[in-house]
Amino acid sequence: MNATDKLLESNPFEFSEVSKKLFLESFKENALNHYEKHEFTKKLWDKLHFHPSDLKTEKDLEAVPGTMVHLYKEHEFLSVPKKDLALILTSSGTGGQKSQQFLDLQSLNNVKKLALRIHQELGMASSKEYNYLCFTYDPKVANDLGTAFTDELLTNFTGKKEVYYAIQWNEDEKQFALNEKGVLEALNRFASSPYSTRILGFPAFLYEIIEKHNIQLNLGEDSWLQTGGGWKGKSDKEIPKREFRKFIENRLGIPERNQRDLFGMVEHGIPYVDCEEGNLHIPNYARVFVRSPYDLSLRPKGERGLLHFLCSYNFSYPAPSLLTTDYGRVGSCRCRIGGDTLILEGRAGVSKHKGCALKALELLERT
Ligand SMILES: [Zn+2]
Repeated sequence: MNATDKLLESNPFEFSEVSKKLFLESFKENALNHYEKHEFTKKLWDKLHFHPSDLKTEKDLEAVPGTMVHLYKEHEFLSVPKKDLALILTSSGTGGQKSQQFLDLQSLNNVKKLALRIHQELGMASSKEYNYLCFTYDPKVANDLGTAFTDELLTNFTGKKEVYYAIQWNEDEKQFALNEKGVLEALNRFASSPYSTRILGFPAFLYEIIEKHNIQLNLGEDSWLQTGGGWKGKSDKEIPKREFRKFIENRLGIPERNQRDLFGMVEHGIPYVDCEEGNLHIPNYARVFVRSPYDLSLRPKGERGLLHFLCSYNFSYPAPSLLTTDYGRVGSCRCRIGGDTLILEGRAGVSKHKGCALKALELLERT
């Protein structure tokens, strides 16, 4: 068993010295793979006098050079021949800059496994059957889109009864559209079903549809809301998380503790998921550093800066050390999960990356 297999067998929220060492070994294995197989990564690291064999302690991880996220949008970076890929994930960005990630079969299995482990530990996986309302594209027609993939993955963490995809392909208009009538029917059907409901999607979608139709339902104590994608493009209407959680509990009967947000980036792939308290926990399958936007020096815990992510599960896509244009901080939480939390504080620059979320919000504007 290689080091990454061992890491993904381990509890994502155990932060002992042994666990931390598992991540270090896995990262080293992954970094060495990309150093040997991806010419740009080798040249960059050589130039900056970094070699994966320098990684001997947890602290050494801070010295791994970050590669700017823009480069992955502008170039097709791969560490395997293209024919070996099992899945290409893209976000439906507009304006030509699309986010993507390439996965060979091993890496795809790794990301599925780590997502399952994280959701299991956060108490979100279950063998019970649920009805699903997904505010995203039907994966049958949009299989390579990040959010559709995420939703299909998330619905596999429990048993499934009906799955309703709210954004559907309109053959006449040759584009995706939100089926608002279908959503209202599904919500009513689910409210009277003996099975509990799980809603997946962008918070803005759900908020607007509840307000517009004055929805008041009780989906039951064991129903869940899993949001992702943020309020991008609708930030003028953004409701603070705590208030949003109360609103959803009042209108849909979904308890606050069962409302979980997820942050993920297509290029990075690690899901950062809310605990019961509503804080995004950082698993031991990743490291998050916060850097000064001026000189990229490391900022201490609690201080704001650019987010720099490390991960080790993808052997086909050379993004083990991704420097983003997102601002954030590393914090902590009082809950049982432990470890650090990720606090997001918006994007540097303006509208440079229109992701899936924004594209979907444009759909919402049209309906
Ligand atoms: Zn927590």
